[in-house]
Amino acid sequence: MKSYPSRRAFIAGVSAAALRGDTHTEPDLILYNANILTVDAAGPRAQAVAIAGGRFLAVGSTDDIRGISKPGTRQIDIGGKTIVPGFIDAHSHPSYAGIRHLRWVNCNLRSIAAIQNAIRERAAKTPPGDWVIGFMYDDTKTSEGRKLTREDLDTAAPDHPVFIEHRGGHTAYVNSLAYRRTEITDRTPDPPGGKFDRDPATGKLSGGLRENATDSFRKLLPTRFTRDEMRQGVKLISQMMVRTGVTSVTDAQASPEDLLGYQDAREAGDLSLRVYCLMQFRALDKMIAAGVRAGLGDEWVRVGGIKLVCDGSISERTARLTEPYIGRPNDYGILVSSEEALYAGARKAHEAGWQIGTHANGDAAIDIMLRIYERLQREMPRRDPRYRLEHCTVVNPSLISRIRALGAIPTPFSTYVYYHGEKMKEYGQERLNWMFAVRSFLDAGIHVTQASDYPPGPFEPMMALQSEVTRTDSHGTLWGPRQRVTAEEALRVGTMNGAYASFDENRKGSITAGKLADLVVLGRDPLRVDPMTLIEIPIERTMVGGRWVYES
Ligand SMILES: [Zn+2]
Repeated sequence: MKSYPSRRAFIAGVSAAALRGDTHTEPDLILYNANILTVDAAGPRAQAVAIAGGRFLAVGSTDDIRGISKPGTRQIDIGGKTIVPGFIDAHSHPSYAGIRHLRWVNCNLRSIAAIQNAIRERAAKTPPGDWVIGFMYDDTKTSEGRKLTREDLDTAAPDHPVFIEHRGGHTAYVNSLAYRRTEITDRTPDPPGGKFDRDPATGKLSGGLRENATDSFRKLLPTRFTRDEMRQGVKLISQMMVRTGVTSVTDAQASPEDLLGYQDAREAGDLSLRVYCLMQFRALDKMIAAGVRAGLGDEWVRVGGIKLVCDGSISERTARLTEPYIGRPNDYGILVSSEEALYAGARKAHEAGWQIGTHANGDAAIDIMLRIYERLQREMPRRDPRYRLEHCTVVNPSLISRIRALGAIPTPFSTYVYYHGEKMKEYGQERLNWMFAVRSFLDAGIHVTQASDYPPGPFEPMMALQSEVTRTDSHGTLWGPRQRVTAEEALRVGTMNGAYASFDENRKGSITAGKLADLVVLGRDPLRVDPMTLIEIPIERTMVGGRWVYES
């Protein structure tokens, strides 16, 4: 059943714009003859939309909307195609990814041999002794069926220190020259919160570094990029993302350099999507001293909150669990900070009026963070703090009811079931029914979001939809079917709920008069296709602020 807004609601939309003192009451652009899924409960379907000054001016039937056109109004016949609100990726690392795509070796390859070739090629162009750095390596996606070793990297680049970051970002792989640079030897003990992988027979370092074990290497990496390179990285990643229908993104670990990069890109006209920043904790003191708190900025670049980290990663199987990993009876994963340190950090941010987003994947880590958030609300109650639980992957009924009671926001990985399904066997089928628990969150009335965590997870919203709706990986294996949602629910999760997570529910997330004109034209209607083909829906055009930022 189609229900267009009534004539009264339609007129109300237009006059509301006039009442706001909006100077843009004449449409610049009208899109008509479309199948618009507005994600606005007041009028879920429409045929046409009028846009003025970068915002939706009116939403309704083709006849009504074309009726308000003025001589200068451009009109585009959408030809019956589907329009949805722009997608909001509520947790990602865009600037970090962009600069790496610009400067590092992309190791998202399907064999160790191909990775060795890519490293060899880069080494040939790099002065001996300088670092060769790779990213996006994934141990489960290579045909050899084993992890990279120190020897693999020594063979590829004997005269360069090599550091290859795992796609998840929590582990890395190095060669012999890299160990020499850090003076780490077979006798060096594991650092707190980290592990050096060793050959089980000989105890010799084997190349793998987990969590805090990467720190002494990262300190040596030439990760100082110029201001211009940072801007170019932002330009590159924002072009990559808008092609897939993403129009807003939360940078879930922004450094001051990233924040500057976003601002520079915006000023140069290179920023094609909107960015909400959860700042790195190390920036907090200086920002508080400068009088900054969450919310500073505008609808393009905004300081959103502060990021804390509690445990390890899901894709690299280091998340902190209450029950051990399948096949590794003594392995419960890793906590990277103590509860006292997290509480002290969270309290400082909370007192200064910042939103807090804490990386907490495993049920043990989520329990710790909820205890901290509950304590903050007891000691210093704040209205609507919208505490975020970044990832919030492994849950149970008691954690869910505490999340609901706090009004906290989980940002689970939306593309993991589809893309990283094969890594999930170490969690076991039973636990999978409580992971990426979108169904349970929605049933509890929790504002769960769509989130890629890119680079660890792909950011394509259509993959997210298919993953959440089918709970099936790319090989057809089902993981945790109890958490399936409908395509309509997944669409709301990817739009309105993302807006809510950044306090933007009145600015974006639906196609509603007065909101920012961010939308996507899809080749097919996601509510009508076979859910196993959602990922194949073509993205035809993407609009941000009334301007086409991508056209196929
Ligand atoms: Zn992340």
